[in-house]
This record gives sequence, C-alpha cells and structure tokens, in this order.
Amino acid sequence: MYDPLLDSHPGEGERYPNSYWASTIADSNQAQQVPTLDRDLDTDVVIIGGGYTGLSCAIHLARNYGIKATLLEANQIGWGCSGRNAGFVLHSSGRRSIASMANQWGEEVAATIYQEMRQGVALVEEFIAQGIDCDVQSKGYIKIAHSTRQFKQLQQLANVQQSHSGTPIDVLTREQLHRDYMADHNAYGAIRYQDGFGLNPLKLALGYKELAMNLGVKLYQSTPVLSWLDKHGGKQRLLTPKGIVTAKKVVIATNGYTPKNFSPVITSRTLPVLSQIIVTNPLNPEQLQQANWLTDNVVMDTRALKYYYRKLPDNRVLFGGRGAISGKQASNPYYALRLLKVLKSSFPNIGELTIDYAWSGWICMTLDDIPHIGHDSNQSIHYGMGYCGSGLAFSAQVGKRLADQVSGGTIPNIPLYQSELPRFPLAPLRRVGQWCYFQYGKYVDRFN
Ligand SMILES: Cc1cc2nc3c(=O)[nH]c(=O)nc-3n(C[C@H](O)[C@H](O)[C@H](O)COP(=O)(O)OP(=O)(O)OC[C@H]3O[C@@H](n4cnc5c(N)ncnc54)[C@H](O)[C@@H]3O)c2cc1C
Repeated sequence: MYDPLLDSHPGEGERYPNSYWASTIADSNQAQQVPTLDRDLDTDVVIIGGGYTGLSCAIHLARNYGIKATLLEANQIGWGCSGRNAGFVLHSSGRRSIASMANQWGEEVAATIYQEMRQGVALVEEFIAQGIDCDVQSKGYIKIAHSTRQFKQLQQLANVQQSHSGTPIDVLTREQLHRDYMADHNAYGAIRYQDGFGLNPLKLALGYKELAMNLGVKLYQSTPVLSWLDKHGGKQRLLTPKGIVTAKKVVIATNGYTPKNFSPVITSRTLPVLSQIIVTNPLNPEQLQQANWLTDNVVMDTRALKYYYRKLPDNRVLFGGRGAISGKQASNPYYALRLLKVLKSSFPNIGELTIDYAWSGWICMTLDDIPHIGHDSNQSIHYGMGYCGSGLAFSAQVGKRLADQVSGGTIPNIPLYQSELPRFPLAPLRRVGQWCYFQYGKYVDRFN
C-alpha cells in the first residue's frame, strides 16, 4: 500500500480500495467519467488533491469568486480519506476539545473555532440539500465511557459543553444505554449529543465532484503531481505524467496522502497514521435483538486509542480503530481481526460475525493536534490539512476558507488559520514516536 512517508506519489489511476463504500456505488471505477490531463496547461489556480478539502475549495472559488480552478487528483475523486472514512459528521476537528482550546487561547477564540466547526457541518448539510444522495442516517452521536472514571469525566464534560453551546446533551447510565440504544458490554455509561450523524462518505465525495463540475471546475483524475519544476515568470510549475501545469497559485489539499518531501511548505509537518475499518455481515433480526441494537447513531469511545462504530442502513456493523504503522503492514489481516475481537467483546451474545470488508486509510496527525491553513511567504502556495482523523465536516469549511485566502479575502483570526503547521522535531523518527504513543495509549486505556 502507498506509504506517504516513503513514496513520492500515491499512484496513478489506482482503483478504490475494496471497501464497503466502493461496493455501494454503481461504477466503482469512475476513471472514465473524469478525464486525465494529457497536455500542458496554464491556469490561475490549481488544486492538488480530489478529496473534500480540494473539492470544497474548488466549489467556493467558483461560487464565491468566479474562479474556475483546475483540480488534479492522482487516482480517483475520493480515493484518499474522503472515500474511506467512517462517515461520522461531527462538530469537531483534530484531537483537542473546545475546553482545552479555551484554556490556551481564551473563550472568544474558542467560540470562533466552535462556530467554524458548526459551519463545517452546516456546509455539508447544504451540499447534501443540493441533491447528494448519500444515505444520511438519524441524528445522534453517542460517546461511550470505557471505564467508570471516564463516565464521571464525560458527565462533567457534558455540563461544560451544555453551558457553552446551550444545546442539551443526554447523560446515559449503562442501563439506559443498553435499554434505549444498544447493549455494549464495554460501556460504563455514555453521553449523547443530538447533532451528529452518519452517511456514506464516498457518495458524499462524488456528490461534491458533481457540484464542482456543474460550476465549471476543471477536474483531472489519474493525474499525480510528480514534482515541482523551477518557477517561470513568477508562476508555479507542476510536473504530471503527461503535461506541465503552470499556475499563479497552488492549493495543496493532500492531507494524510501528502507524498514524501512534496513541498518545503509542509515537509516534516504532518504524520500520516493508518486508521482501519471493518464491516461485518448484515445482522439478522435475532442478532439485532441479542444486542438490543436499536440505534443507527454514530458511536465513539473515550479511549486514547479510540474505537468507533455504527450500524449501517443494511444492518451491517462498521467498526474502526487504529491500524498498522507502515503501509507495508496495512493489509495484514491481524489488524482487521483485532477489531473484530474488540467488537465481539462489546457484544458477546451477538452470534456469528464475519468480516465482509476491511480497509484502511491515512489520517493526518499534526504536532499540536489541530488542523491548519497556511501559505508560503509569497502567498502563491496554500495548504489546508491536519484533521487528525476528524475532518469529514471541517474539511468543507477549510476548503471554503482556503478559497477566501487564495482570493485575497480575510479569514477569521484563529490559530488554526493564522499559524502554520508546526514542524515535528526529529521528523525522521516520527514513526518511533507513534509506536511509543501506541504503547502509552494501551497503558492509559487499561488503567484509566
Ligand atoms: C479510516 C478513516 C476513518 C475516518 N473517519 C472519519 C469520520 O468518521 N469522521 C470524520 O470527520 N473524519 C474521519 N476521517 C478523516 C476524514 O476522512 C478526513 O479528514 C478527510 O476526508 C480529509 O479530506 P481531504 O480532502 O483533506 O483529504 P483526502 O480525502 O485524503 O484527499 C487527498 C487526496 O490527495 C491526493 N493526492 C495526494 N498526493 C497527490 C499528488 N501528488 N498529486 C495529485 N493528487 C494527490 C490523494 O490521492 C487523495 O485522494 C477518517 C479517516 C480515515 C482514514
């Protein structure tokens, strides 16, 4: 599997992974529908990466500024995280809570960040309302405590968040959770937000693609940027397999799939980490009853090394957690089987469960656990990335803000948008650091 810390590009026209999502779209090889770039091209703005960030940026450039950008995707639209994720639409991004951001930057900044996150969700809903059929499920996000101590903390968190947002958050004892939602035996209680939901992420990405094409965005698939050539006449020049793209401005929207040494603006500033997903056989009525699985709300736990799950529209269970450390190990069945084991421990009476689909994808970690928008000193190269595994909704807002920035507009004065991605110290040892964090996480999750 492509490994962003080792490889110089993510492939050329690769098919989607064998995911459940790919099985739900009529033509799982979309290559025919979008052309490949086969000549040189001169354009105002070129966007690299055909996921939510790049597509949202292209949509907003066209819609709000009349700029018809060119978008280059190495493989297919939604081939990266955007077509592989768990489909949780949440008011969040990165790994930091609003409370910890308020402690560091003050209440006003934290409130603006929260507002941006809410706008991300609103944007996703607005795009969907334009006719994207992506199997939206009912509203509700359940955060389950994996220990009694964490349940106490969740209750405190609910109090703080309720007073900040003014929206009610339910506190559920283990018994209430089992009775009204699902009988997860690893849960010691939970809180439930009324505003998160699940959807089909690949259908969403392909819906963004349609919106972008209808606005006149020029999309090219199977067109990896192989390298940056010397600038000419003050313009950036990008080498692709069959043509050179010359542009006044470049937007890098490659997130966890950013290749090794891609651009000095972001080199050594992100850590790609594999997240793994399995999807089981559809549960039969007896199994649903055994687990008392009444909800299709999205679920995540409180572990440092988180597990997340949801019941899909056809009663399969999607279950996710951390994957391998290197691309070479990504398809080792050990990681999928480990998830199945945890899933079975949550629902011990559920009976026969098989893995029908298993795949993984590179999430994009940052040193300070938050995403960033940034640019080079000439404002000719811009980037937006680093969602730390929680960017489905926020990437829509980052795309919008990137469009504002590229067009010379103003964007809110918050650290996510006004400070560049911090560089990892001892960057060549990032994976050693990741391994150490996994060991620490296992320890914390057992005793906390
Ligand atoms: C397993 C998994 C589960 C997740 N679950 C959730 C979830 O439930 N909710 C949530 O909020 N977030 C989730 N995320 C994170 C979320 O999917 C991402 O934050 C989001 O999709 C990022 O979108 P993006 O457009 O920035 O990047 P991507 O969708 O990764 O797009 C980057 C694109 O850049 C392309 N590219 C890279 N290099 C080049 C090049 N040289 N030339 C041309 N193209 C290039 C890649 O091919 C890729 O398609 C999950 C991620 C994973 C992996």
